[in-house]
Amino acid sequence: MEFELWYLIAVPILFAAGWWLRGVDFKQHKTATQSIDDHYAKGLSMLLSDDPGQADKAIDLFIEVVRLDPETIELHHALGNLFRRRGQFDRAIRLHSFLVNRAELPEKERALAMAELSIDFLKAGMYDRAEAAYEQLAGFKGREVEALEALMHIYCTEHEWQKAVETAERLQKSGRDLHVEISHYYCELAELARMMKDAARAGEYIDQALKANPENPRAWAFAADLALAAGDKRKAFAAWEKIESAKPAYLPLIAAKKADVMAETDKPAAIEFLKSVFARSGSIDVLNAAVARMSVWADAPTAAAFASEALQNRPSLSAFSVLCNLRAKADPEDEQAKLLAEVTTKQSKLFARYQCSHCGFLAHTFAWQCPGCERWDSFPPVRVDEAKKGAH
Ligand SMILES: [Zn+2]
Repeated sequence: MEFELWYLIAVPILFAAGWWLRGVDFKQHKTATQSIDDHYAKGLSMLLSDDPGQADKAIDLFIEVVRLDPETIELHHALGNLFRRRGQFDRAIRLHSFLVNRAELPEKERALAMAELSIDFLKAGMYDRAEAAYEQLAGFKGREVEALEALMHIYCTEHEWQKAVETAERLQKSGRDLHVEISHYYCELAELARMMKDAARAGEYIDQALKANPENPRAWAFAADLALAAGDKRKAFAAWEKIESAKPAYLPLIAAKKADVMAETDKPAAIEFLKSVFARSGSIDVLNAAVARMSVWADAPTAAAFASEALQNRPSLSAFSVLCNLRAKADPEDEQAKLLAEVTTKQSKLFARYQCSHCGFLAHTFAWQCPGCERWDSFPPVRVDEAKKGAH
């Protein structure tokens, strides 16, 4: 706050110093300078006044100063940024809009004002106007990439995925590789179509997602879901195969679903599949899925034997809790086993979280986009405690 007050006084003083020096150097402009000095002096006292109406009038006077001499533009930018930082968006917008519309200013200066104006709208929460401002900014030479990146960020924040796709495709023309992002935007569109119960549309979006990134495990998992919903198991298996061959690390996310379909015809094969995915990934979710299904598809002792073997090979609190739960289930009368199961389940859930490989954000559920740094595919598909155990 103190710094801002200092700034509030320093900016007008710089204005004054500039004008005084100009008065010395250019005596032939004495009349104009006098007029600017008058505007400036008046504006300064109004700006420092506590009356908001007076401060508004001050902006008009400063605008008049830049009209009389465009060379004061840097000071105007400083003033505009000061208004924005103080949350006085209407004033910042007025000042920057004025600069943008000064046709006689060099294009570079108008582009800078346009960029500032876009930020004003964004900070003020006026997204529609921010979008329009960034579109205009993209038209200025050398500003297109920055404007399109800002637009893409806005569209992602507002979940306007179609516009995000279009903007990303425009950005790709400038050499950025955004195939991963574009593929996810199409997956988001597919999610929306599925929510609207429009499977055909969802399928079209997934085709687009795979066209953008043929190795996107999310799109293949989605394609498998759509195929299953349509009763086409062969197509679902083909989609899961793609994950297995291109991105095997993501198998834990679809293992239980695939095992369930396999079990309809071949339960031992389904169990073997889950065991193999657990052996490769150490995923506690797969262990849980395997143990729950083995209790039904085989018998409880087989499930318990597998759980203790898993605990021995990859000791973790999560694996221990799986075993405790099995014991509690085997003997519902055993209060101690029940208590142990409850406590270990609760504790393991606290530690078993997914972690963003870029910013370290921790999440209880898997996400394709990190809520912290907004990167796509930054969460490894296994939980942190399992990943550590697997690394040893
Ligand atoms: Zn992150």
